[in-house]
Amino acid sequence: MYSLAGPMVDARRLLAKMSPGTQQLTRSTGGDPNALSQSDVSLAAGRIKEPLTYRWIVYRYGGHDRDSDRQRLETSIVCELSRWAVQEHWRMRKNRGGLGKGRLQRFAALWIAEAAHPHRCPSCKGSGQQLDTDTHRHVCCQQCGGNGTIRWSNMQRARWMGIRHSAWQKTWQRRYERLMQLMNAKEAHGLRIVAILLSDPLD
Ligand SMILES: [Zn+2]
Repeated sequence: MYSLAGPMVDARRLLAKMSPGTQQLTRSTGGDPNALSQSDVSLAAGRIKEPLTYRWIVYRYGGHDRDSDRQRLETSIVCELSRWAVQEHWRMRKNRGGLGKGRLQRFAALWIAEAAHPHRCPSCKGSGQQLDTDTHRHVCCQQCGGNGTIRWSNMQRARWMGIRHSAWQKTWQRRYERLMQLMNAKEAHGLRIVAILLSDPLD
C-alpha cells in the first residue's frame, strides 16, 4: 500500500510525504494512495516508548496538535530541562512552581512554536491581536507588532522569554541549541520507527 520500500527508510522521505498538502490530499477520497495520513502516523507512533519523542511526533506529524496536546508536550520538555537545571546547578529564581518553572515553560514553548510553526507568532497564533486581560479589548500583539508572523531573531527570543538580549546570548542561546540538537535526534529516531512500521503494513 505504501511506496516506502524496505525497512531502511530515510526519515526525510517520510517528512517530505507529510507536508500539509499531502495531509489534505489523503483526507479527500481518490487522493494519492501512497500518501500517509496523520492517523497512520499517530497509530504507528504509538509504538514509540519514550514519552517526549512520542509526544513530539504525534504533535508535529500525527494531528495531535490541540492546546492540551501542546501543553503535554511542553510539560515533557520542561521535565527534561529540569533535569539539566538540577544536574548543572542552573541559577534559577524560585517561584511558586518550584525551580523557575515559568521560565522553563516559556523556553519549552519557544522551541515548540519555532519548530512546529516557524513563522507563526505564538502569542497571537497568527491573528496579530491579543486580548487585553484588564480592559477585555483586543489590542495589537506586542510580540509580532500585529503582523501575525514572526521571524525569530535572538532579540525576539529574548523578548519572548522576558529576559535581556545579553542574558539570552550569555546563557540561554547555548541551552537552546542543545535542546534543538536533542529534539532533532529524538525526531529522527521517532520518524524512523514510524517509517519502518508504515513501510511494512500488516494487511
Ligand atoms: Zn503576534
